[in-house]
Amino acid sequence: MTAGEPNLRITGPTPLPSAVLEALGEQMLSHRSEGFRVLLRRIIAGLRPLFGTSAGTILPFTASGTGGLEAALVNTVRPGDRVLVVRIGYFGDRFAEIAVHYGAEVIPLDVPWGRAADPDDVRRALRRAAPVAAVAVTHNETSTGALNPLSEIAAVVRAESPALLLVDAVSSAGSVEIEMDVWGLDVVVTASQKGLMSPPGLAVVAAGPRALEAASRGGPRPYYFDFLRMAAATAEGTTTYTPAISVLFGLARALELIHAEGLAEVFARHRRLAAACRSGLAGLGLAGFADPAHASPTVTSALTPLGWTASALRRRLEAEHGVFVSQGRAEWKERLLRCGHMGHVGADEVDRLIGSVRTVLSGSPG
Ligand SMILES: *Cc1c(COP(=O)(O)O)cnc(C)c1O
Repeated sequence: MTAGEPNLRITGPTPLPSAVLEALGEQMLSHRSEGFRVLLRRIIAGLRPLFGTSAGTILPFTASGTGGLEAALVNTVRPGDRVLVVRIGYFGDRFAEIAVHYGAEVIPLDVPWGRAADPDDVRRALRRAAPVAAVAVTHNETSTGALNPLSEIAAVVRAESPALLLVDAVSSAGSVEIEMDVWGLDVVVTASQKGLMSPPGLAVVAAGPRALEAASRGGPRPYYFDFLRMAAATAEGTTTYTPAISVLFGLARALELIHAEGLAEVFARHRRLAAACRSGLAGLGLAGFADPAHASPTVTSALTPLGWTASALRRRLEAEHGVFVSQGRAEWKERLLRCGHMGHVGADEVDRLIGSVRTVLSGSPG
């Protein structure tokens, strides 16, 4: 990336590799054709290692990530069911809101923003709230830059309860290790526009056997977001309704890039860049917000220095340096700068971000 190009360091959508941009320009094909069957099978095979699943069914819904969260809940939870929602930030709140919307009895487990959930607290909450139909948890909380210890939380849920475990992995899948089968996750949701280096438009859901079984129980069924009908369609190499075909072209190419680099190296690169971003910002007086023991590999959140609102800093970075970052959410809107480093990103972009923050801070807040 040259100095003149915008440096999109928001938390999504993320920049696209040039090979993905090219793939987006391919001519349409019928989503009931052999060509599409080949494309979809390739994508599903490429996605499996990112979720860590061979037993799960990959369900591509045309929607943003929130559609995937809605699909996860509406297929597995019935009105009146008790759902324990582990809330460590804004996206945990959204998961809970959707569950309430569909008539679930939500039992919140609230953790102060910036911290990750303690698996022992999850154990206690599960015992208090039993019987629980589902546990909903955000893997990587984009609003705070904290990564939940998902494997440990999953171990507790599996040991304590028959509850289904629903995971929002929108800002982690493809950038951070997920072992759906080994850890015992029942539904994992991601979206095309974060670590998958693709445009927005696709919610990718991995549904395990227990989730599909829950979906086949009686009760109100979703129409568009039906897991079972989408599973039947993908088994035939197609989707229930017209998919975002261009996004799928891009995703197929992006998955090739991810596997060419190697998943282990992709994960290591994200950890390296996150460490560089955290220490670079801390060196300029922007202290890390998230608990260092659980700092996210994909999103760095830092407290703005004295005298600077996040809006002022963000606007100067945009106007003077072409660097685009996110601000905090809710009451942290003016106190936090959030920088995305997921997907198609290397050391140059993080260095340029840090250099731009340094230059802006050397002037007055204005
Ligand atoms: C981006 C994101 C979402 C989904 O947002 P959409 O705008 O609906 O794609 C959900 N959860 C997390 C953790 C996210 O980062």
